[in-house]
Amino acid sequence: MDVREEFKKITQIPEFESQVEDKALLETDKMSVLQINVGRLCNLACKHCHVEAGPNRTEVMEKDVLEACLKVYTEWGFDTIDITGGAPEMNPNFRWFVKEAVKVCKNVMVRSNLTIMLEDGYEDLPEFYAENKVAVICSLPHYRAKNSNKQRGEGTFEKSIEVLKKLNELGYGKDPELVLNLVFNPGGAFFPPEQSAMEKEYKEHLGSEYGIVFNNLFTITNNPIGRFGAFLMRSGNMEGYLTKLYGAFNPGALPGMMCRSQLSVGWDGKLYDCDFNQAVDMPVITGENIKDLPGKPYKKRKICFDKHCYACTAGQGSSCGGSTA
Ligand code: SF4
Ligand code: SF4
Repeated sequence: MDVREEFKKITQIPEFESQVEDKALLETDKMSVLQINVGRLCNLACKHCHVEAGPNRTEVMEKDVLEACLKVYTEWGFDTIDITGGAPEMNPNFRWFVKEAVKVCKNVMVRSNLTIMLEDGYEDLPEFYAENKVAVICSLPHYRAKNSNKQRGEGTFEKSIEVLKKLNELGYGKDPELVLNLVFNPGGAFFPPEQSAMEKEYKEHLGSEYGIVFNNLFTITNNPIGRFGAFLMRSGNMEGYLTKLYGAFNPGALPGMMCRSQLSVGWDGKLYDCDFNQAVDMPVITGENIKDLPGKPYKKRKICFDKHCYACTAGQGSSCGGSTA
């Protein structure tokens, strides 16, 4: 099932670009974040996963692509390297890459599912992260075990708590140099609650029940693509969900769309405006690979949009860094 073909059929929802009055917002501004998806391999297979990662995926970024990422990061003046996956830790060159990245970048962050840090061969990752002062951004769909396990699989919440405790023991969430952020996403076709209120709830529950502390909570709206998009299509809910997103369109969220300040790299080096466009195979308009870029100057580019973009501009706005409006 091709989600973009499905979008075409939903004709009562206008094209995203037509809703943007200030056309300058349809271009990249100053790119600050290089987001690198180092592969689709993951130890989990979550229901909401927009990149459809899992244990049987074989796409993994090779070392020459990682080297090109480091070159382009330095040449183009980004300020953040955001490493994602799959479970990025499962890329065989992951530790080498992190060590090289922290030499050139003060803001290196890794998006981790936490449970990977209990698997054989990965148990020393918390210490590795702390030594390299890498910010850890962890998906924890809910502070209640039942809700979280429903999305990510039985037992994943308990494992996540165990790892969060270990990260706290090493200073994560306490030492200003060891940032620990959590990510909430809804368990279905509804919007996340207001971010600061949800952060307060998470802090109260995780603190009183498990003694866990963390810095910030990011709330993310489920994007109607990948595994979640397939579920919406199967259950006949795609049109209803898109209508909800469109109905909540907030022009105030447009300036903060992450595609305006980000370049996203796929496992094979292909470039995208964001990780969501990567998931729907909608590359940058110039069609380049990161390996083409070293030695070339940064240029503004027009961003590619489709109807899934309404997920980034509904209500309080949504991005990999949480709400944007
Ligand atoms: S959501 Fe994250 S942890 Fe879950 S399958 Fe996708 S990449 Fe893996
Ligand atoms: S899905 Fe990507 S391209 Fe579309 S608005 Fe969101 S960040 Fe921008």
